[in-house]
Amino acid sequence: MDDYIPIAALNQYAYCPHRCWRMFCMGGFVDNQYTVEGTSLHDRVHTIGENQREETWQVRAVWLKSERYRLIGKADLVEETGGCWIPIEYKRGNRGEFDNDALQVCAQALCLEEMTGKPVTLGYVYYAHSHQRQPVEISPELRQTAIATIAAIAEILNTGKMPPAIYTPRCKGCSLYQQCLPKAADKVGRYREAV
Ligand code: SF4
Repeated sequence: MDDYIPIAALNQYAYCPHRCWRMFCMGGFVDNQYTVEGTSLHDRVHTIGENQREETWQVRAVWLKSERYRLIGKADLVEETGGCWIPIEYKRGNRGEFDNDALQVCAQALCLEEMTGKPVTLGYVYYAHSHQRQPVEISPELRQTAIATIAAIAEILNTGKMPPAIYTPRCKGCSLYQQCLPKAADKVGRYREAV
């Protein structure tokens, strides 16, 4: 595959493969309250440069890339302390019940490892509403899930094949609901299978 996979696509795929297809194959992104708040948060984070806090060097809006996994994207914040590198992703709201944010941090860690030549074992998701950093252990299991997700996204990008729209609790907060109409799509899919 020639093209790089946007790191953010892992988050979207884990949220919903159909949403990932709409955004990265169809270019069909639509904002809602949650996405606008998220964009605004990232804009604020990305306006600040770099600074030193005691032993820790912090740099914001860092481009990350992996040739091995064909990944590219921007980390909100990267910290380095004593030669250890840590990616930190900023999110609106509080910690959700889904693990899609951890997957995004893991993809950033894979890039950082390749770029620095050092193992990255920890990352964080910073949740703006609760002002809390949630640690993300870059475990073998999370790495495996991230690598499998990268392969699944590559398949979508290469083939353009549309994953089905399946109605789940996540649909309620999804900005693409009106474009996708998952309940109707679900019914049509089941009708097609029956005939
Ligand atoms: S409305 Fe539901 S099925 Fe459709 S893209 Fe959003 S999360 Fe996926």
